[in-house]
Amino acid sequence: MSPPATRYPLHRLSGQFQDPGQEAAYRRDIEPRVRLESSVALIVAALVFAMFAISDYHFVGLSMALTLLLTMRLVVVSSCLVLAYVLGRRGSYFRHAWLHALPLWILATAIILIVPLRPESLSTQVSGVVVATMGFYLLIPNLLPVATAASLYMGLGFLGAAVMVAEIPAALALRLLLLLVLTNAVGFFALLRLETLQRRQFALLQEERVQNQQLTEEIAHRKSLEAQLRSLAERDGLTGLNSRGHFMERARELLQRAQFDGAPFSLLMIDVDHFKAINDTWGHRQGDSVLKAIAETCKHSLRPQDVIGRFGGEEFIVALPDTRPEEARRVAERLRQRVAALSFDDDMPGHRLAVTIGIAGVVDEATDLDALIHQADQALYAGKHGGRNRVVVSQETQS
Ligand code: GH3
Ligand code: MG
Ligand code: MG
Repeated sequence: MSPPATRYPLHRLSGQFQDPGQEAAYRRDIEPRVRLESSVALIVAALVFAMFAISDYHFVGLSMALTLLLTMRLVVVSSCLVLAYVLGRRGSYFRHAWLHALPLWILATAIILIVPLRPESLSTQVSGVVVATMGFYLLIPNLLPVATAASLYMGLGFLGAAVMVAEIPAALALRLLLLLVLTNAVGFFALLRLETLQRRQFALLQEERVQNQQLTEEIAHRKSLEAQLRSLAERDGLTGLNSRGHFMERARELLQRAQFDGAPFSLLMIDVDHFKAINDTWGHRQGDSVLKAIAETCKHSLRPQDVIGRFGGEEFIVALPDTRPEEARRVAERLRQRVAALSFDDDMPGHRLAVTIGIAGVVDEATDLDALIHQADQALYAGKHGGRNRVVVSQETQS
């Protein structure tokens, strides 16, 4: 990946991004800060400009020139304050950059106009122009081309007025020109450096944001993959029930808790009767639909805290916490009847489903899950031998 500085090259003379889209993004990004800075700079400039009214009086006394000077200062100060307000509220640096440049032209024109109105104070005005030039470059941020144009306009206008109205000698004019060129050069290169640095920093920040975004997406993707993997391991693909492994984990926890609390715990082992015949007669797909229907029936017949798993092929297993064997028998009986009531007349005309259910319950603290499964399995086996379609409680549980 190329570094951001080379991916977004900058104009050598303006310090701005060559790519208009990137420049627009940058301007949008800095807009709130620029608005504030421009408003504050304008208020300060207006105050300084107003303060110089004192020197007007000092130089021209009570005269027509003073009236003109004061009127001009009033116009400039009020337009600067209005512009400061407008910029602060609506000065989109992105869409109305010209609004930020406008005060420069107003101030530059006012400074030029002081020469014919107050020609005898030229030396003071020279320092004023130098300070204003630096202010243009440094106080109005991010508008290098405009700041340069307005500063040159002010410098050349001031020089022109000094030559034509104040009639300064050629040698002095040349010295002034050199001073203004120097001031502009310093201001220009200082701002160019600032603009370049700020945009490089922005490009880096943007790059970092993109990388963070990519990282976030990558993390989200990994999490979703992890969730998928976990679900694959924990769920049975056909019925959506707990896989055998996951059932064992959860049931073991429930059993341990029951034994710790001294609470009852029962286990159901459910096997579909003559399931092979369904596959053989109506096909594997029909067999699958039957398995799904039985899984759904189990889910709807049991409590949320009961854990149901697909133990294998056409066998299901259920852990019933807080359930005594007699209650488990009732639950199993209800389940058996609901399965028997399932109707598959359209797909398997005349066929009735049946399940045999073996039950085992915790007898003492030593009973572990494998032992319980073994007992339920034996009860199931007994049920099959006894003619199927029935519920049988294991001998150990009964004794
Ligand atoms: P019983 O009443 O003694 O339990 O007889 P059964 O036919 O139900 O038992 P058996 O063990 O002979 O046959 C179970 C069949 O279940 C055999 C196997 O092909 C089928 N089976 C196992 N898993 C699936 C499955 O995911 N889908 C389908 N359609 N059939 C399956
Ligand atoms: Mg079986
Ligand atoms: Mg079977």
